[in-house]
Amino acid sequence: MYEIKITEVAQRKEKPSDESKLGFGKLFSDHMLLINYHKDRGWFDPRVVPYGNLSLDPACSVLHYGQEIFEGAKCYRTDKGFNLFRIRDNFERMNRSAARMGMAQIPVELCLESLMALLSVDKEWTPHRTGTSLYIRPTMIATDAALGVSAAENYLFYILLSPSGAYYAGGLAPVAIYVEDSLVRAVRGGVGFAKTGGNYAASILAGAKAKHEGYAQVLWLDGVEQRYIEEVGSMNMMFVYEDRKIVTPMLNGSILPGITRDSVLTLAGHMGYEVEEKRIAIEDVMADAASGKLTEAFGTGTAAVVSPVNKIAYKDQAVHVGDGSIGRITQQLYDTLTGIQYGKLDDPFGWITSF
Ligand SMILES: *Cc1c(COP(=O)(O)O)cnc(C)c1O
Repeated sequence: MYEIKITEVAQRKEKPSDESKLGFGKLFSDHMLLINYHKDRGWFDPRVVPYGNLSLDPACSVLHYGQEIFEGAKCYRTDKGFNLFRIRDNFERMNRSAARMGMAQIPVELCLESLMALLSVDKEWTPHRTGTSLYIRPTMIATDAALGVSAAENYLFYILLSPSGAYYAGGLAPVAIYVEDSLVRAVRGGVGFAKTGGNYAASILAGAKAKHEGYAQVLWLDGVEQRYIEEVGSMNMMFVYEDRKIVTPMLNGSILPGITRDSVLTLAGHMGYEVEEKRIAIEDVMADAASGKLTEAFGTGTAAVVSPVNKIAYKDQAVHVGDGSIGRITQQLYDTLTGIQYGKLDDPFGWITSF
């Protein structure tokens, strides 16, 4: 048990009255959680304080060299209270990101107890409307006030809570995606598997290009041969073959190991589908979509859960996947996973923490 000091705000903010207009990551709850680290002291002073600005030295290393990692999870409102989904996995992944970025390890129990302390004062910020949730954003930044390039000696860990709207207002809408054949997101040996801001910075230009051309997301290819599929936007990519087999790129160091990805593979296997993780060449996907062997395609991630894809454009060619509406297996996986998250279905894998 860690001692976490709670200082409550004098005046709570008004909660949004129209939960259909929440959007994503725009509003924040009344409080935030902070923990400091110094290499000689370890983690100290865990505290819940009123939400507000941080004070950072402008020489602060995160602002210059991007030593930063984050996580994304959700708190769901259920009939009986609140559910967290595989939350321990988020903090374990955060420590793997920290190791790659040369940052301090943080005990998973400290993260979990800190989050519960923050939720103890702000859980009522979890919206009620179907498909909404309280988004949880743990973050760690390097805070040394010095311009030398080396692993920092000081870090700040913090958690923000953001009431977020239903990703799909009118049912799961399939999107068209665009295969990026020159810019890459991550490379083998780089930081692709770490949830670090730099990967997102590297993706923004291609994302803007895709939007400009009328596509919802970028389909990323590997950074070496620019031939093998890695991810879609900031989601993992799944393909369904002949209505019975789920195929996804194997983890290779440049792909982010999504918790939704792992959950979908587990559920699909449990439902009796064949599951395969392998290298997937873009030309094979284009040919299999054209021939009809590829029956469904979708991205997976905490924000959307699944995001169906109905069109893929590569160089000067475009192929359609399925009949344009959401695939049967995509819908089944979405319904099962969200059913578990919102406490409507049993949790056979022990993924849920209820409170
Ligand atoms: C967070 C993230 C994902 C999805 O991970 P989940 O744990 O399923 O939310 C996929 N790709 C990238 C690049 C990510 O940052």
